[in-house]
Amino acid sequence: MALRLVILGRQGSGKGTQCARLVEHYGCPHVSTGDMLRAARENGSELGRKAGEIMDRGDLVPDDVMHGIVTERLQQPDVAEHGVLLDGYPRTPDQADELERVLEALGTPLDVAINLDVPVAEVTERMLARGREDDTPEAIGRRLDHYEALTAPLIEWFGERNLLHVVDGLGAEDEVFARVRAVIDARLSGQ
Ligand code: AMP
Repeated sequence: MALRLVILGRQGSGKGTQCARLVEHYGCPHVSTGDMLRAARENGSELGRKAGEIMDRGDLVPDDVMHGIVTERLQQPDVAEHGVLLDGYPRTPDQADELERVLEALGTPLDVAINLDVPVAEVTERMLARGREDDTPEAIGRRLDHYEALTAPLIEWFGERNLLHVVDGLGAEDEVFARVRAVIDARLSGQ
């Protein structure tokens, strides 16, 4: 069994924790484009240098660059064998179109997209509680607005294809993971 899953969630939604558990449970490689870009940056590659500047501005790396990186990753044998957990990608409907094309060409369509839903008030509270320097109420609000604006069209994109499931991200980590698993397992068994 190879699961192909996209996960969406606001900052502070617990997405990182759930990703770790998903990878452990389903054995699929975790493909986080943010991690890939940060690694490229640390390697000092040309791509990493350019992407680093864009990331520092808080902008999105251009779609054609992202397409290249993700397509290459999805063609790796571990993805063919064990599926994929996509985290941070797609970020735009164009990226989603491209993802659909690439997976279709590989003969392995997406199984499901999960939107881990934690209300804005709660994620704001969680971020303020961790007390990081860049976590002022204004900065948090800006990042969340930005996320909302970007994600709304994606939610629609996945919804139109009947791939979208909203999972309540409130509650204990175990409870949330049980909800996520229930959605995935129902999907994999064709329900
Ligand atoms: P993340 O760790 O997912 O928040 O990503 C960190 C940064 O990497 C983002 O703010 C973007 O600048 C860049 N990035 C990550 N994924 C993508 C993507 N799918 N499309 C464009 N830029 C991305």
